[in-house]
Amino acid sequence: MDHFTYKNGVLHAEDVPLPALAEAVGTPFYCYSTATLQRHYRIFAEALAGLDVGIYYAVKANDNLAVIRTLANEGAGADVVSEGEIRKVHAAGVAPDKIVFSGVGKTRSEMAFALETGILQFNVESEPELEALSDVAQARNASVDIAIRINPDVDAGTHHKISTGRKENKFGIPWPEARSTFAKAATLPGINVRGVAIHIGSQLTQLGPFERAFEIAVDAVRQLRNDGHQIDRLDLGGGLGVPYGVADPPSPSDYGDMVKRVTAGLDCRLMFEPGRLIVANAGILVTRVIYVKPSADKTFVITDAAMNDLIRPTLYSAYHEVIPVLQARSTGTPRTVDIVGPVCETGDILAENRDISVPLADDLLVLRTAGAYAAVMASTYNARPLVAEVMVRGTAHAVVRERQTYEALLSTNTLPDWLSP
Ligand SMILES: *Cc1c(COP(=O)(O)O)cnc(C)c1O
Repeated sequence: MDHFTYKNGVLHAEDVPLPALAEAVGTPFYCYSTATLQRHYRIFAEALAGLDVGIYYAVKANDNLAVIRTLANEGAGADVVSEGEIRKVHAAGVAPDKIVFSGVGKTRSEMAFALETGILQFNVESEPELEALSDVAQARNASVDIAIRINPDVDAGTHHKISTGRKENKFGIPWPEARSTFAKAATLPGINVRGVAIHIGSQLTQLGPFERAFEIAVDAVRQLRNDGHQIDRLDLGGGLGVPYGVADPPSPSDYGDMVKRVTAGLDCRLMFEPGRLIVANAGILVTRVIYVKPSADKTFVITDAAMNDLIRPTLYSAYHEVIPVLQARSTGTPRTVDIVGPVCETGDILAENRDISVPLADDLLVLRTAGAYAAVMASTYNARPLVAEVMVRGTAHAVVRERQTYEALLSTNTLPDWLSP
């Protein structure tokens, strides 16, 4: 459930009518709902109530400071994958001891930055990374808590580009081969082995793959304790899917019940890194129709949002439900349309083969479920400025990222001496 609903035939974000917002900030823009963010975080936390847990919001899903701060106020920590994300979560007010550093390619300078500013845990993904981290920690006379990410070779049953738990993926160290990595880690200066981490993919719509992977992780904890390691943390990652209008993913409470069953008696702090589940349905992309272009086979609805603003459909064939801001526009006879942007690429399709009543030029449309992996992946391709992001709370709204100006867009380029006048 979210807080984007029709009131008197006009789509609202919480209590803010979208036509007024479009008037105020221009289009296209992303719009986030505070109440929806809070609701999703609380549902997830409640599903795990009674367990010893830490929830670390996966910032890469949406790294807007207002989103991070809203979730931090609910008690969330942060799962980060770069120095930039560490800087963002600091700016949003997340305490260093609530930050987990994930990712396959942390550089030494990023490691040093994390150690200098404070971090709860590194999730290490390879032996070379482990050695580098030991060096960096030693050079600072520091010691760092780590989990080692194991790869359970479980098929998440999700899109291949967001599947991470197969042995052919770059992520984690295959289990049980990782036992020797744990043994090595135990001998390295500056390294405290604390946990096992796992994350098998994103947008999982079945509990089965999670359960298989979690069982492997729980067995790994037991085996490693037998090997003499003091494992007191188990990081179960993120990945729980959301309904984009098609599949019906498991509920957080079913997920929580499964976690309780699989980890019963383990006596470990459990860590979670949800991203999409928290933010996806808390965001929408609002766009205006520029032209409606009929052709022999289908009608093209050309909008002012494009693949550079929302690349998920192009990159992952992702489905976003499209609805009109004025409810009356949905009552005409449906026709098959493609909703496309102005970018000069055939792949610039936001929604393909939709049977909807054809909108008119200047109508506002909304792409739902656009809070995760959406604004964060935007680019300026075709020299299109980054769009505005707005957050609403009740009747209030605030621009939480300004629309990029053309001056800012141009200012990133400089001419070499030999081309200057
Ligand atoms: C991307 C990622 C997540 C979040 O995944 P969601 O599908 O958004 O929940 C969590 N942990 C790690 C290590 C990730 O790479």
